[in-house]
Amino acid sequence: MIQSSDELDVLVIGGGPAGLATALRLHQYRLKVQVVTKRKQPRELVGDHLSVETSRVLHQLGCWNKFLDAGHLKSSGTRSIWGSNRIEFSDAISRPSGGGWYVDRLRFERMIEDQVNEQGIEMYNGTLIDVTSDSKGWIVQTDKAIRHVRMVIEASGKTSAFARKLGISRIREDRQIAHCTVYRSEKPAEFFAMIEAMESGWWYSSCLPGGLLSVILVTDADAASPWLLHKSSEWVEDTLSATVHTSARIRRHCGGARKIVSQNIVHLSSGRLEVTAGKDWIAVGDSAICYDPIAAHGISQALVTGRDAADAAADALSGDMNRLSQYTKRLDYSYTYYTNQRKRLYSVENRWPRSVYWMNRQRTK
Ligand SMILES: Cc1cc2nc3c(=O)[nH]c(=O)nc-3n(C[C@H](O)[C@H](O)[C@H](O)COP(=O)(O)OP(=O)(O)OC[C@H]3O[C@@H](n4cnc5c(N)ncnc54)[C@H](O)[C@@H]3O)c2cc1C
Repeated sequence: MIQSSDELDVLVIGGGPAGLATALRLHQYRLKVQVVTKRKQPRELVGDHLSVETSRVLHQLGCWNKFLDAGHLKSSGTRSIWGSNRIEFSDAISRPSGGGWYVDRLRFERMIEDQVNEQGIEMYNGTLIDVTSDSKGWIVQTDKAIRHVRMVIEASGKTSAFARKLGISRIREDRQIAHCTVYRSEKPAEFFAMIEAMESGWWYSSCLPGGLLSVILVTDADAASPWLLHKSSEWVEDTLSATVHTSARIRRHCGGARKIVSQNIVHLSSGRLEVTAGKDWIAVGDSAICYDPIAAHGISQALVTGRDAADAAADALSGDMNRLSQYTKRLDYSYTYYTNQRKRLYSVENRWPRSVYWMNRQRTK
């Protein structure tokens, strides 16, 4: 166990997009920052749509040229079959800001890590064990080291490991399960995402760089988990055969003999932390607010909240708490806006009035 007497300004707990964005921005203020993180397994890296608003924050973090060089696919929009059997088009061309990207998620996260390493920001693999506060800040114990820090950034994703140690609980909005498959595609990439609602949930599909097709089924955790956990492929195949457009897209790209590159089941627990900051700690990304994947903007929110929390932390460390209070107000506002939008979106689908999935989503607060 390393016990360093050398005091840090900020310790970031969690090295996903939110934690790394915070660390990069804090470094721009010349603050002494360190990142401690549990490493994610490549199979945990699901979710590939990056909204166009992300370009600004990638510029600010110094990652924009690396992002352009990485060969992610530009999005032309979304086709959705939601609320009726008709395909609705939402085209990027009709939006002044354009349409975002479908990213290779592993490459995307490595890109931000490379930027952190190039800036000389210290980062190590470790897990938060314990935390106590004193007059100067925090004493944080991980499985590798004990550090004294003035401020902590809670960036541990939906586990909210640090906030839970403070006794802060998460407000749970929903529990869903995602069954994620990546297939090898035999056809040129299509530049649109497709969302198709069905009786027990919805399907998302998109082409990824490197000749891949990502297909995700999102369904109710309580109703579907026995099936997904014990008989997943049988249940998923039955559910897929009930779709018109998603199954046709898979046939078009993969032919008869589908080649699976990876498959994973992810538990989704959307919601927010009851309290998102204190005078010497701030939550960012999924830890602060974890969105339903239908919103497809968890990654951009991770980067944006990371940047804004770092700005607030820099001020707070010099005694000015204004930006910190604006930060928490903005999170509250975003969450209210998002929950209203989400409710509206799920209430559009009335084709299966007896479906547990749709009834559960439509009665969520
Ligand atoms: C099925 C699915 C589809 C999605 N689709 C999209 C999409 O299309 N577009 C989009 O923008 N978003 C999407 N998302 C959401 C997106 O993946 C997340 O919002 C984003 O990863 C949040 O980043 P983060 O840094 O806050 O958290 P994370 O990426 O979860 O990173 C948290 C980090 O903290 C580490 N950690 C956890 N506990 C500890 C601990 N005790 N000590 C130290 N480290 C710890 C973890 O190992 C991890 O490295 C999707 C999510 C899912 C599940």
